[in-house]
Amino acid sequence: MHEDLERVLFTEEEIRAAIERVAGEIAADYQEKEITLVTVLRGAVFFAADLARALPLPVRMDFLAVSPFPLASGSGMVRIAKDLDESIAGQHVLLVEDIVDTGLTLRYLMKTLTLRQPSSLAACAFLDKKPRRLADVPLRYRCFEIPDRFVVGYGLDYQQHYRNLPYVAVLKPEVFRG
Ligand code: 5GP
Repeated sequence: MHEDLERVLFTEEEIRAAIERVAGEIAADYQEKEITLVTVLRGAVFFAADLARALPLPVRMDFLAVSPFPLASGSGMVRIAKDLDESIAGQHVLLVEDIVDTGLTLRYLMKTLTLRQPSSLAACAFLDKKPRRLADVPLRYRCFEIPDRFVVGYGLDYQQHYRNLPYVAVLKPEVFRG
């Protein structure tokens, strides 16, 4: 294990099993329908790539990025920094997030994507940090619930590091306190 890490929360094997389970839930709900995975850059890329391959359905993929609203940092307000490349009108859209923490990002994205008139819209997160939730967001699928700790790996970063760890781990608090 990397020296900056306190403990591993989920191993590669546990992640694989959780994604298989969630893919099964999604496949059961959507039957044979084509779904559009709208993935939030950059953290959710690893999850989306594995989820897409585990889904026994036709899948389209598009990506967007959010960034904190200028002049409102710390407020949880976000804006779209990179938009989707294609229209989602009339499509069954599944929003793919790395982690839902306060829920403010997800709430904003659900509102924004709803305005584009998809046939359906649901959200799926790799991690659900429920203890910090501020916004009541409809998260239909999740791989794991986690406690209120800062985690990295499997796409999640701290200052752009640790994304490529194949597992999820708790970062030692002294690392991000500097
Ligand atoms: P929310 O709007 O739900 O508070 O924020 C979600 C975003 O906060 C995530 O997409 C992620 O970028 C960041 N975030 C929240 N908790 C963690 C965490 O434990 N680790 C990492 N790496 N990012 C986190």
